[in-house]
Amino acid sequence: MPELPEVEVTRRALIPLVVGRRVQALHHRDPARYRGTELAAGRRVEAIRRRGKFLLFALSGGFELVVHLGMSGGFRLGPTAHTRVVLELEGVALYYHDPRRLGRFWVVPAGDYREVPLLLRLGPEPFDPAFSPDYLFARLRATRRPVKAVLLDQTVVAGVGNIYGDEALFRARVRPTRRGHRVTRREAGALVEGVRAVLEEAIAAGGSTLRDRSYRRVDGTIGYFQVQLSVYGRAGEPCPVCGTPIRRTVIQGRSAHYCPRCQR
Ligand SMILES: [Zn+2]
Repeated sequence: MPELPEVEVTRRALIPLVVGRRVQALHHRDPARYRGTELAAGRRVEAIRRRGKFLLFALSGGFELVVHLGMSGGFRLGPTAHTRVVLELEGVALYYHDPRRLGRFWVVPAGDYREVPLLLRLGPEPFDPAFSPDYLFARLRATRRPVKAVLLDQTVVAGVGNIYGDEALFRARVRPTRRGHRVTRREAGALVEGVRAVLEEAIAAGGSTLRDRSYRRVDGTIGYFQVQLSVYGRAGEPCPVCGTPIRRTVIQGRSAHYCPRCQR
């Protein structure tokens, strides 16, 4: 958290607030986490793009502000007890809120991501044609890792995290613990469709605000996709398809949720 839908909802909310305005300053007390921010002063925000879970603010003069929201980061219209950075723009201020302080900012020459190695290694975007059934099938066939771990690997596909990984596997009827090389070509196709469908629906619902309430939209309201989650966070509750209690297991240190009857 936040995963691709929450980052995309954030991006869409920021565009009308920020694009076209000049940055006056980024105020913070943590140059190790928020790097090179003095380079943004005086530059106009020309666009905001997204790559995986990264926000990319294009700045005039060939610079870029790269933001990763970590586990609990988000932008707000007013200060909070956990404001870490104040983005002062002409006519508006944005407050970067991050209780767990795992988010990061980098101001870099546009497209120069040497300081952000994960961004350089990201796999295709889920909505890009490059994320095809044949591609995913080839990546799965080459590994004995559990399919859930493969979906969460940002070098395989960008932006999928724990919540939407579980939901996509449920839709494709594939158990998260299944070894990659045991997934069929048809199931790989169902997984591509499942990932795209669940992400699209979550973006339309404004993302998922879970019990910890950490994710909020920029205007402070919550997202609503959590009410549509079929398996994530629902251990012991009945499967919405067959009624069997949802199970929880742990894969590479992360929780995974599945229906033992629908997912094989
Ligand atoms: Zn079921």
